Order: sequence, then structure tokens, then C-alpha cells
Amino acid sequence: MSTLEIRDLHVTVDTEQGTKEILKGVNLTVKSGETHAIMGPNGSGKSTLAYSIAGHPKYTITQGTVTLDGEDVLSMSVDERARAGIFLAMQYPVEVPGVTVANFLRTAKTAIDGEAPKLRTWIKDVKGAMNQLRMDPEFAERNVNEGFSGGEKKRHEILQMELLQPKVAILDETDSGLDVDALRIVSEGVNRAKDATDLGVLLITHYTRILRYIKPDFVHVFVDGKVAEEGGPELADRLEAEGYDRFVTAGANS
Ligand code: ADP
Ligand code: MG
Ligand code: MG
Repeated sequence: MSTLEIRDLHVTVDTEQGTKEILKGVNLTVKSGETHAIMGPNGSGKSTLAYSIAGHPKYTITQGTVTLDGEDVLSMSVDERARAGIFLAMQYPVEVPGVTVANFLRTAKTAIDGEAPKLRTWIKDVKGAMNQLRMDPEFAERNVNEGFSGGEKKRHEILQMELLQPKVAILDETDSGLDVDALRIVSEGVNRAKDATDLGVLLITHYTRILRYIKPDFVHVFVDGKVAEEGGPELADRLEAEGYDRFVTAGANS
């Protein structure tokens, strides 16, 4: 049983116009087996929240805490956060030239577990996971994210997640750019991980579409750098019907 706890998180970023506060006091608790959807208009700070938890150097924490099972996440390096069990699937994954998917996965698994996986079971696990995500075996020999289509990038992220078995996964707009079939396949991967390892999920999404496949236990509406409203799955239905207008007309999203 794991708990990711975010308390009063304030985050700034340095821009050409100066330092700008993007997160303005975020409170959120994600426990094992729970799926939390973070929904909100563009520019509300959803990706900033994801990057801040994962330790991206661009974002400065000015106030608040993030803990995983009581351990101070904010004092950990990016690698330590991954080893502690935090996984981030990025909205815009980067290319890793010259590193194949197979090597990347094996290196990541070795770093996180502190020892290399047993080759025979590892190959079986990778093949099995790729097969379930309907990925061609040849995909393992391609360089990470080089020339990947939108759908391939997302499948690769979910493949990583299934193999690395984190405690908490942060999925940032994993639904963007996916057609219905790919969305279903990717969602099934997330649901498999939830069943297999009691994963806690922070599912960041602008649209409600993915929530038909990955059922949230809690929905948080993010506006202007903080949670403006929260509720159960019915809140997503309401957003589907009404959009974000009643939140943004309050003068947010400067
Ligand atoms: P969302 O994911 O909800 O669309 P983001 O977290 O990407 O929102 O962005 C929130 C706000 O912070 C936006 O106004 C965006 O321009 C700004 N921002 C985020 N990251 C950076 C950055 N690295 N440099 C400058 N501005 C940033
Ligand atoms: Mg955005
Ligand atoms: Mg974003």
C-alpha cells in the first residue's frame, strides 16, 4: 500500500518575462489502487504538476511538500524518484538517438531494481507485454521515440510502465492523438497494471474520452494552478456536458 501526498504545492518557472507562479497551492493524495483524473483547460498547469512530481529541473518548488509513503520526494534526484516508484509518461516524449527500445527498457529496469533482470524471464515479459499492446516485435530494435507515430509513443510509454511496475504512474495526456483502437489498447495496458500491481494512477487529461476506458475513482478539476473542484466520476460526465466555461470565465488562465 503506497500513498503519494501533495500538500500546498507552489511551483514557479523562469520565463523571458520573469518568474511566473504556475502552481498555486495544489493538494492531492493518491493511494495504491486509486485512479485520479486531473482535468482542466489548456494552460491550467496540469503538465507542470506532472513534471514537478517527476523532478524536471525547469520547475522550482517554492512552497509545499510531495511525499511517497512519508519519504520526501522533492529532495530526491530524478533517478531516485523513479527508483522510489514514481513513473511519468510525458505529454511530449523525447527522442533517445542510438538507443533501442530493448536496451532502453533493460537499462531502466536494471536501474530501478538495482540488478539486471534475469534474461530469460525478461525477454518473455517484454514479448508478452508488447504482444498485448499489439506492438510488432521489430519495434524493440527501433531507437526510442525516433520517428515514432503518436500512437507508438504512447504504447511505448505504457510498455515501460507495465515492465517497470511503479507504485504511482502519472500519465500526461496519454489519450492525445490516439484513434479509438489505440486508445482502447493503451487503456487496457493501464487497467492491466492496475490489476496486477495495485498501481495508483494520476491520469491527466483535457478530454473525458479516455475515462470511458479507464474509470476514475476521483476527478479533480484543475484551473489556474490549483484544484478548483473535485468529486467522483459523475464530475467528468458534467464536464463532458458543460465544458470548462463555468471555471474559466472566473478570469483564470491569464
Ligand atoms: P497544461 O498542461 O494544463 O496545458 P502547463 O503546465 O503546460 O498547462 O502550462 C501552464 C502554464 O505555465 C502555461 O501558461 C504555460 O505557458 C506555462 N509554462 C509551463 N511550462 C513552462 C516553461 N517551461 N516555460 C515557460 N512557461 C511555462
Ligand atoms: Mg497543454
Ligand atoms: Mg499539458
